[in-house]
Amino acid sequence: MTLIKRASAAAIFAIILFTAPAMAQFPMPPHVPIWDANKTELTLQKISPDVYAIIPATAEVETAKGIPQATTGGFIVGEKGVMLIEVMLTKRLFDQEIKLIRSVTNKPIIYAVNTSDHGDHCFTDYLLPASTIIIQNEFAKDNLAKKYEYIKQFMVMLFGKDRGIEATTFRPADIVIPKNNNLKIDLGNGKVVEFINTGIAQSPADLFIWLASSKVFWAGNPFIAESPAIPWLFDGYFLEPVVNLKKIYDFLPDDAIVIPGHGRITTKAGIKYTLDYVEALKRNVEDALSKGLTLEQTKEAVKMSDFNKGYILFDWLHFNFNLPSAYKDIKASQETK
Ligand SMILES: [Zn+2]
Repeated sequence: MTLIKRASAAAIFAIILFTAPAMAQFPMPPHVPIWDANKTELTLQKISPDVYAIIPATAEVETAKGIPQATTGGFIVGEKGVMLIEVMLTKRLFDQEIKLIRSVTNKPIIYAVNTSDHGDHCFTDYLLPASTIIIQNEFAKDNLAKKYEYIKQFMVMLFGKDRGIEATTFRPADIVIPKNNNLKIDLGNGKVVEFINTGIAQSPADLFIWLASSKVFWAGNPFIAESPAIPWLFDGYFLEPVVNLKKIYDFLPDDAIVIPGHGRITTKAGIKYTLDYVEALKRNVEDALSKGLTLEQTKEAVKMSDFNKGYILFDWLHFNFNLPSAYKDIKASQETK
């Protein structure tokens, strides 16, 4: 074996080492795919003149039943063209999005925004026209550039093989918003869209979108859906999300129209359940730590049955990710005091 061949074999081995075991150890949800990109049908919901939400057809009935829903999105028709909010996981869903846009306007898609680096919010950016300007959180762009194949494998693991995820390719964003920064884009006709990177609310890649003139808020993954859904804190962060979910909640007016990451259109009151859950989890884990409980003992003691109202993914998220992340973060913060 030549030195070069040996080096590349080592590199391949390193890739397997660093990706496969991480995946192998990942606790799996009760059902894969969590939702099926081969079956999802997207529908259009007009919110105000030139402002639309794109919502899975099943969301209206199934959100309150605790059934996980595909990605939501939307678009705003401006003076010069369209701003698309979220692209979808696969070409099949992307094509549906474009059809919905073309059912109301022939204007070009000038901007596309992704609220996360998870594939169901950004993997079909590559299908947009070359002229479309893509906007993301700065971390999202960097992370996608470094780990696209890893994120792709992760998405296939949770959302299934042969859904078209494998065929997607990386397209870098054109404009990024760094942490603790905002950006406003004026689409004309009084429609100024604000992008908010407040730091980690689910992951470091989160981006919130606020259209003040219509009081519409695209919340993305940090607010997955109304009750009984609970947040997906599987990126391992807890204390920073607790602060930032509250900050975003407080920022919204009472009559805001909220498009959550994966559910039917809701209100500010509708997303309070997410905040109530993380705040209760924080108090409960602080209490467990003050009694000296281990992580395993805390899982026994902090079942939070009062928040377990039928969300299909409750046990998977609460016991494998949300509670352990809370335990790790709170313990670490107490040790540094
Ligand atoms: Zn998502």
